[in-house]
Amino acid sequence: MAMRIYNSLTQQKEPFEPLVPGRVGMYVCGPTVYKPSHIGHAVGPIIFDAFKRYLRRKGYQVTWVVNITDVDDKLIAEAAAQGCRVDELARRVTEGYLAALQALNVTGIDHMPRASEHIPEIIDICRRLIDRGAAYVSGGDVYFDVTADEDYGKLSHRRAEDQLAGLRELTGQEKRHAGDFALWKAAKPDEPPEVQFDSPWGKGRPGWHIECTAMSVRYLGESFDIHGGGMDLIFPHHENEIAQSETCFGRPFAKYWMHNGLTRFNTKKISKSDPQMARLMEQLVLSRLLEKYSGELLRFFVLATHYRRPIDFSDEEMAARQKGLESFYRLFERAARISGRDPYAGGETLEQAGPAAAAGFEAFAEACANHQRRFFEQMDDDFNTGGAIGVLFELATTINRFMDEQRAETTSDQRVRRLASAAVQTLRELGGILGLFERPPARPAAAVDALVGELMELLIAVRAEARKTRQFALSDMIRDRLAGHGIRLEDRPEGTVWRREG
Ligand SMILES: [Zn+2]
Repeated sequence: MAMRIYNSLTQQKEPFEPLVPGRVGMYVCGPTVYKPSHIGHAVGPIIFDAFKRYLRRKGYQVTWVVNITDVDDKLIAEAAAQGCRVDELARRVTEGYLAALQALNVTGIDHMPRASEHIPEIIDICRRLIDRGAAYVSGGDVYFDVTADEDYGKLSHRRAEDQLAGLRELTGQEKRHAGDFALWKAAKPDEPPEVQFDSPWGKGRPGWHIECTAMSVRYLGESFDIHGGGMDLIFPHHENEIAQSETCFGRPFAKYWMHNGLTRFNTKKISKSDPQMARLMEQLVLSRLLEKYSGELLRFFVLATHYRRPIDFSDEEMAARQKGLESFYRLFERAARISGRDPYAGGETLEQAGPAAAAGFEAFAEACANHQRRFFEQMDDDFNTGGAIGVLFELATTINRFMDEQRAETTSDQRVRRLASAAVQTLRELGGILGLFERPPARPAAAVDALVGELMELLIAVRAEARKTRQFALSDMIRDRLAGHGIRLEDRPEGTVWRREG
């Protein structure tokens, strides 16, 4: 089956055919680096990283660009609030973002350009738009004239007149039409020097939309294959990117527009200005979440939902996904016991083992091949990672059942061990397309602490039981051995408590 993806531009699923056969250029709008990234900022990178892996698996050569918006009103305001330079704030927040991407196994980004490093390209596009009569200078600002783009509104499926009517109240006097947007903003007297760039129209800085046009064209060309981003960017950001790009270069901008659903935090009742919201967002900062949950779990959580659907984030949802992920880990541990080898070190897959290895176990091999085929069908159908993960669960169940039936742990039949191990490697290979199961599970400190706590409760309960039945040698052994690990038990009227010494 050929791959189909939903194109926001045409509002339907279309066969995926890149402009140049075998090569794919993909641009995804990145963060505005003024405050620490939260879980919502990780969704796009995780989805498109997995998408790139899948395209590569299908044989495409992919160039993926994610920009960093490091010049913006929000950065200027935040730097002023913190009493630091804008570029210093941007550097600090960007570092945190990159560290989070690494923890989430987002490895496929080829270029991560900063807006501040592409000012000449931005000025050049502004100049060309002015020359074409599609942009005009007004008091040191440069505005794009939306009436210059005949099909303005084609992505958001709104007519330009609706926009003009809707926005008229908000307009400043310096614009010709209410819907016109700034390509270049003149420097204000109180703005710091690091955000004041020289231009033919005086000192100033770029508008947000033009940054993405300049950086996508610089790395992918005037026309490229895929433009991605969150659904909240369709209007006005992406609409404006299309308008200025196609008017400037006279050719179609991105062929496919892919928009991911937004993250919901189960906080419909909390308004953005409510202090509760600020506290909640604090907890959803990626660096904090990564202390609590592994990067693999966060990645698994995001990919378990179809990318166009909203993602509901909550600790309960995460706990449920953790259980799902653990079932795969248990299968890999079982494979290690059966084969005596570390499954994360790789090994032959079912395909590599070949049909001869499955002789006598054809039904199992056939079932695995079916799951594999269905995995690719799900991925080909608008990149349905949630469906594909569902198939991985089924494959894991099939493998576990085979191991049970063949008594894989104790059998002397080496063919069973080889086949079971190969099936596990096939599962790992499919997971790898989603960026999962590449290395042994990392347990964040908080999760380890929780497990230690549960095990201690268990030991304390066993010791109490031993004392109740007067097995004092056993209860003393538990206490002494724990002391050997630096853990002291204290018997109190309300029960036994434990603490670490030193
Ligand atoms: Zn953008």
